Amino acid sequence: MRFDIMTLFPGLVTHVLGESIIGRAQKSGACEVHAHNIRDYSEDKNRRVDDTPYGGGMGMLMAAPPIYNCYRGVLDQQLAEGFDGRRHVIFMSPTGKVLTQKKAEELAASYDNLIILCGHYEGVDRRIVEEIVDEELSIGDYVLTGGEIPACILVDCVARLTEGVLSAAECYENESISSGILEYPQYTRPLDYHGMKVPDVLTSGDHKKIDEWRREAALELTRRNRPDLLPQEEE
Ligand code: SAM
Repeated sequence: MRFDIMTLFPGLVTHVLGESIIGRAQKSGACEVHAHNIRDYSEDKNRRVDDTPYGGGMGMLMAAPPIYNCYRGVLDQQLAEGFDGRRHVIFMSPTGKVLTQKKAEELAASYDNLIILCGHYEGVDRRIVEEIVDEELSIGDYVLTGGEIPACILVDCVARLTEGVLSAAECYENESISSGILEYPQYTRPLDYHGMKVPDVLTSGDHKKIDEWRREAALELTRRNRPDLLPQEEE
């Protein structure tokens, strides 16, 4: 999977995504992350990329032309590199539909390339969204200063579903949300930590009992923290 991120702060995304599992996946070639600086595509002599909104109001808006030029630049770079996969353009925005694990699975299965636009300040001129964006995604019902952290979240959760990023599909199939409910509590050494012992069943060696315990513990946690994930009981 190839990710192209259009942003005013490329260092933010390259730094975050250059570490740990996604960083290793880039080195091994399991995924590619390209950050593109929208400011490099400004035609203004002072490299301006924003302006005041028509109709008045607080703050500055990212103007359409530098974003469009950046988008064309991404396509040109892909062409020069011989890339011609299935593309999808996403705008990270609190006005989008909320990102879910199901959406991440759908994106990982359907596309070879996500081109992600990060807004900043008061957001972007709506016309660029109408022109180049296929889908708007929000990471939750709160507002951040920019789309870079949301873009990193999207890349991380889609990339880990693509082949070669994790060691095996089981790594994500049995996890919270992917499995339909929350994951059971897990423990590692030491057996006794600050007086809290690991549940006996987990050291019993009886795999049927361990599976039953995990299933019940997962349901209990889901009932407590995310009852909305469980089928609603009839009144
Ligand atoms: N004025 C915009 C509004 O009310 O919808 C909010 C702009 S926000 C301060 C600046 C940028 O941060 C947005 O354009 C978007 O790219 C990003 N952003 C903020 N919150 C987000 C969220 N929950 N999900 C995805 N992106 C978000």
